[in-house]
Formats: sequence, structure tokens, C-alpha cells
Amino acid sequence: PPDIETLGRGSWNLLHSIAAQYPENPTRTDQNNVRDFMRLFATLYPCWVCGEGFAKYQSRKPMPTQSRNAFGTWLCDAHNEVNRRLGKPEFDCSKWEERWRTGWKD
Ligand code: FAD
Repeated sequence: PPDIETLGRGSWNLLHSIAAQYPENPTRTDQNNVRDFMRLFATLYPCWVCGEGFAKYQSRKPMPTQSRNAFGTWLCDAHNEVNRRLGKPEFDCSKWEERWRTGWKD
């Protein structure tokens, strides 16, 4: 079975990278695609409790798809919710794009 930590690190890398490349001004098709992807990702995620948690987050906090920043910040909040649950430090979501798209300035 997949290792939950290695799987998680790789998956967050993929998800935040998708947000980083998401258009600033997405079309309707872009928006439908990313919403379908996130829903199916949660359904198929090979750690059942993890996927269930992500699906619940999506129901509780509907995913904004109208801009890169709105989507990326929502995803950062989702990751922080898991961080809190696992006792990991919270990430400053004003910096998600610096971390995942443009690169740290220092
Ligand atoms: P990770 O949490 O994997 O983070 C990787 C890197 O992302 C960090 O080094 C940091 O640079 C950056 N980062 C950290 N926080 C944020 C943020 N908020 N926004 C943007 N970037 C950030 N594990 C469980 O044990 N139980 C669960 O219920 C669970 N649910 C999960 C749900 C999903 C959808 C995913 C993708 C993973 C889940 N995991 C869960 C795995 C868990 O979140 C971690 O991936 C795993 O514990 C490894 O943690 P890590 O400390 O290496 O860093």
C-alpha cells in the first residue's frame, strides 16, 4: 500500500502546482475541469480517510474557480486544515504563490 506521508507530499506538490499554473482569468471550461478534477481526486485518493476529509472540506467550503489566487488560497486553506489536524505548523497562505509558482525571494 502507498505510504501516507510520501503520497501526501507528492500529492500536495501536484495540487499546488496545478493551482500555480491555473489561469488568472479561467474560461468556463477551465473552471469546470478543475472542479471535476478536485472532486474526483478526493474520490480516488488512495488514502481513504484523507480523501474523505478532502471531500468534506469541498462540501463545507465550496471551491472558488474564478481566479488563480482564489483557487490557490482555498487549496492552501485545505492543506492548513490537514496540517492542524496532524499537529504540523500552519502555512502563511499569502505566500502560497511565492512557494509554488514564483519561488521564494530569499
Ligand atoms: P506536507 O504537508 O506534505 O507539505 C509539503 C510542503 O508543502 C511543505 O514542505 C511546505 O513547503 C508546503 N506547505 C505546507 N503547508 C502548506 C499550505 N497550507 N499551503 C501550501 N503549501 C504548504 N495525512 C494524514 O495522516 N491524515 C490525513 O487525513 C491526511 N489528509 C490528506 C489529504 C490530502 C488531500 C492530501 C494531499 C494529503 C493528506 N495527508 C493526510 C498527508 C499529509 O497532509 C502530509 O502530506 C504528510 O503528512 C507529509 O507531510 P510533510 O510534513 O512532509 O509536508
